[in-house]
Amino acid sequence: MNKKPSIKFKRAAVVGVGLIGSSLARALRERDVAETVIGVDQDEDILARAKKIGVIDHGFSSLDEGVKGADLIILSTPVGALTEICRKVSDCAEDGALIIDVGSVKGVVLDAAKALPDRIFFVPCHPVAGTEQSGPEAGFASLFEKRWCIITPLERNDAPYLEAVKQATGLWTAIGAEVEVMDAAHHDLALAVTSHIPHLIAFTMIGAADDIESVAQGEVVKYSAGGFRDFTRIAASDPVMWRDVFLNNREAVLEVLGRFSEELAVMQRAIRWGDADALYNAFSRGRSLRRAIVDAGQETAAPNFGRDEPHVSGEES
Ligand code: NAP
Repeated sequence: MNKKPSIKFKRAAVVGVGLIGSSLARALRERDVAETVIGVDQDEDILARAKKIGVIDHGFSSLDEGVKGADLIILSTPVGALTEICRKVSDCAEDGALIIDVGSVKGVVLDAAKALPDRIFFVPCHPVAGTEQSGPEAGFASLFEKRWCIITPLERNDAPYLEAVKQATGLWTAIGAEVEVMDAAHHDLALAVTSHIPHLIAFTMIGAADDIESVAQGEVVKYSAGGFRDFTRIAASDPVMWRDVFLNNREAVLEVLGRFSEELAVMQRAIRWGDADALYNAFSRGRSLRRAIVDAGQETAAPNFGRDEPHVSGEES
């Protein structure tokens, strides 16, 4: 923690001081990666709260004022707001500024980035780390430690841009993340599988339970078993963020959803016909995939997913 960081910014502006933005702000301060951290948010109350708990040095509700003098700009709003922010930031960012985003969908961000002039350097990023909570109080500095951050660079090969990609990589590494570079379309398909569809299933399951009134009157809460409770945790995630993910990753999500529906039909058939082998084999695949994720250090084998430990990151987008 006391090691001198290999990368340092003078002034970092975090646009959207929620779970991810405030976690980044905390990590930048804790690891001494930025001298000053500015918060920019549309909500004055969020800025006041973030300042009060020491996450940011100063807060601005105006983007122009907030990014003035910043050599690092972090866009951590919901994905739906990014296109408009990219358009605005192209006028007010300082020459040479490094801009990163943290959006859970990347194709749409790359499209938005086409509007940016070459004098600023935008490196799309997605830290695959998060929890179901929102707001500045929910953030914590260690959120990104040992988690992957996927970088999906723009189609630019000029030397200053490649240097900016290196800087972005250095930033994530300095706060404990591991970096992988990927094509945006591949990212969107992979994340549809690992994050977006699992969330959709959780939202749908909770909705279905709520609709079945005979059990929803108390039993859902009273007898909620581990599996259902896990669904409720995932389904407690921010509705605005998830609305934007599904609106902006439509094709990949529909592709994976189609495959999922086919698999579901296979399971339905196995249950109907009492096909014990098919069920056993399907469930065994689940167990070995889980083991592989634990072995890769992306999840703990501890009971209750280690959630009894403080600050264990939950489901991420
Ligand atoms: P969050 O806690 O809801 O924070 C988002 C913040 O952005 C809120 O304070 C929101 O203010 C503010 N905001 C919205 N529109 C804005 C605008 N136009 N200008 C300035 N501020 C604006 O959300 P989050 O979970 O940190 O997610 C932020 C981003 O990280 C999203 O793009 C998401 O896809 C990505 N991400 C999330 C996770 C996760 O697990 N949560 C993981 C990886 C990446 P209001 O509350 O007033 O709207």
